[in-house]
Amino acid sequence: MVIDAHHHLWQPWEQYMDRLLEHSYRLGIDRVVITGWPPNDVGNDTMAKAQAAHPDFLLTMGFVRLGEDSPREVDRIRDLGLKGIKVIQPLNDYDADEYMPIYARAASLGLPMLFHLGIVARQPEMDRFWDVSMARMRPVHLDRIARNFPELTIIGAHLGNPWYEEAGEIARMHPNVYFDITGSTMKKKGPAFLDELLWWHKNEQYGKMGDNHPYQKIIFGTDVDPEMMEDVKGDYQCFMDHVNMEQRYRDLIWGGTAARLFGLEG
Ligand SMILES: [Zn+2]
Repeated sequence: MVIDAHHHLWQPWEQYMDRLLEHSYRLGIDRVVITGWPPNDVGNDTMAKAQAAHPDFLLTMGFVRLGEDSPREVDRIRDLGLKGIKVIQPLNDYDADEYMPIYARAASLGLPMLFHLGIVARQPEMDRFWDVSMARMRPVHLDRIARNFPELTIIGAHLGNPWYEEAGEIARMHPNVYFDITGSTMKKKGPAFLDELLWWHKNEQYGKMGDNHPYQKIIFGTDVDPEMMEDVKGDYQCFMDHVNMEQRYRDLIWGGTAARLFGLEG
């Protein structure tokens, strides 16, 4: 099974789905984890329509605005039939006390959470209105959440770009934290850099702090338009070849791990 674990839905969404299905089929991608963005008119109700239209293909994530929405929105996301929760641009650090009830509710409902991390495009129309700050989206903020909610599945986006060291060690420490390597990282950094970051497969003794092999903590995602997905897939392939990765770990990265996280075993 191949799962693109990081994708965005755009309006008009029916036409976007046509392109996404066409390129996914061509590239052998079986499922796509997809998120909305209310300011672009892709809110949770639209996501529910997309999920209902493509139940065997999409794994839609609802959007929760940290600092404005209450845990009730988490319940509503579950009731809409969505499969997880996406967060970005919080009004406080991700690990602020005030957000703990949201994480607790997601954990109790078994909804995986995708956290945008690191750099975010400048948005002149929105930055002041939304009070955007990338410092609130550092990988290190996932640490407290992972410790408080070990039963919550946490996916960090973009390997925390540019805070890779934080992301790598958070992945090593916490069995419930995973990362995708979408965004500009695989253009900026070569496979040798990633190999160094995920160092603990080479040292059993010190690697024991966490209980997972690093390649069990990385998942495939694209985060680009359908026409560009092939390019990102090639970058993942390049990394796997560079480290001479065993086939069983490649299978986990391409979709095995995401299938388990979203309850699609088998
Ligand atoms: Zn994204």
